Amino acid sequence: MERKPGCFYCEQDEQFQSVLFRLCDLKVSTVFLCRDQTLPGRCTIMFREHYEELYDIPKDLRDDFMDDVCALAQTITEVFGADKINYAIYGDEVRHVHLTLCPKYKDKLGWGKPFVLFPEEKDLVILSQKEYNERMEQIARAARQKRGLSV
Ligand SMILES: [Zn+2]
Repeated sequence: MERKPGCFYCEQDEQFQSVLFRLCDLKVSTVFLCRDQTLPGRCTIMFREHYEELYDIPKDLRDDFMDDVCALAQTITEVFGADKINYAIYGDEVRHVHLTLCPKYKDKLGWGKPFVLFPEEKDLVILSQKEYNERMEQIARAARQKRGLSV
C-alpha cells in the first residue's frame, strides 16, 4: 500500500480522527462520516492509496473508485432522503485524492449554492456517539452491499 509520510489521509492522526470517523472500506476506498452532520449523511471518501490527482490513478482502479463513490452517493440518497448529492474535490493543501459527498436538502443550509465546506459554529450539528454509530452502520451496510462486499 502506497503511503506518503506527512499526508493527512495516509496518516489519519488524532486530529483527523476527531473530525472524520472511519466507517467502512469499499473496493478501493475508505469511507468516513464527517463529524459535522449539519447536512445529514455528509461523508468523505478517500482512495486508499496515495495519489494526488484522479488522472494519476490507473484507469481500472479509478473506475473501481468511481463505482465506490456512486454506491456511497446512492446509499446516502436512500438512507437520508437527500434531494441532491454534491461532490467536491479540492485538496490544495491536502492532496491525497478524496471527495466530500455532501447531501443537499431543499429546506437546509446551502440549497441552490455550493455547499458550505465549514459551516459556522451555530449551524453545526454534532451527534452523540450512539447516533454516529447508528448512522455509520446504516451507511456501511448499504454501501458495502451495493459493491457486493460482505456486511
Ligand atoms: Zn496520502
